[in-house]
Amino acid sequence: MEKYLEVKNLRTYFNTPEGVVKSVDGVSFHINRGETLALVGESGCGKTVTSLSLIRLLADTADLKYDYMMVDGQEIKDLTKEEARQIRGKKISMIFQEPMTSLNPVYKIEKQLGEVFKLHEPGLTKEQIHEKSVEIMKKVGIPNPDERLKVYPHQLSGGLRQRAMIAISLASNPQMVIADEPTTALDVTIQAQIIDLLKQLQRDSNMSILLITHDFGVVSQIASRVAVMYAGKIVEEGMLEDIFRDPWHPYTKLLIMSIPGIKVTRGGRLESIKGTVPNPLNFPKGCRFAPRCPWALDICKDVAPEEMVVGNRRVSCHLRTQGKAVE
Ligand code: SF4
Repeated sequence: MEKYLEVKNLRTYFNTPEGVVKSVDGVSFHINRGETLALVGESGCGKTVTSLSLIRLLADTADLKYDYMMVDGQEIKDLTKEEARQIRGKKISMIFQEPMTSLNPVYKIEKQLGEVFKLHEPGLTKEQIHEKSVEIMKKVGIPNPDERLKVYPHQLSGGLRQRAMIAISLASNPQMVIADEPTTALDVTIQAQIIDLLKQLQRDSNMSILLITHDFGVVSQIASRVAVMYAGKIVEEGMLEDIFRDPWHPYTKLLIMSIPGIKVTRGGRLESIKGTVPNPLNFPKGCRFAPRCPWALDICKDVAPEEMVVGNRRVSCHLRTQGKAVE
């Protein structure tokens, strides 16, 4: 499979009066053409900052570094704001979590779509832009597109707003989309429809998807590969079936257990993830998950685990290095 995007040792730090916040602290991954990679973890683990770093939609206080980045066969040496602008849209587009915060409430949908077409295909006439807008609204399953183009975002239902957002993200004809919690604000039926829509769009255009989510339930419906992120690092990565069947990292195991309906118990108790994600100003010295890990060993508090690679899987956990399973 051909890689569409690859990044090695991505670090995104923020300088604050309290100190350096290491939101993304040495993350490496790739996405193949036409596949969906899910980046999974609780909020505050660095998933969204990772994705925003790829298109440099970060505050000016961000200090972004990496050893290597490649998008669409081209190495990105120095991700300046101008280079990032060229990547955004055509190469990588973003579907945000909450359409009401990313759609502009004072402009009708047609104007917002039109702006994207104008930017990416400058020669289009007004009529061509209208035709293309109708076409893309149909493509994302919005009924009566002519009428829906004339309304403001608040006049659409939650599901249609999310579809309109997806239409705007796709108007630049991107080869990859980042979908950041694309279904979190929606009810279960609409969630399923949006996931089906993303899958269908992917089948039609061989688009790559980076799915950002805290929800392993959503992951199981759409992803082919999974990278689990905790406290600024990827702690486990592998194919969806392998990760589900046999998670190697305790954090992955606990995330899977927290899917509603999955009643996996340890010692007869239903497991949940106790405690909170550590403060990125002050990560624990050894394994960053140690204070919350029911399987922690003596070594875990003091020594950070090295990454271990086996075939197409990788994990950072002392338990695995010592040949023990998460049971
Ligand atoms: Fe738990 Fe230790 Fe593995 Fe960290 S290294 S996840 S504390 S067993």
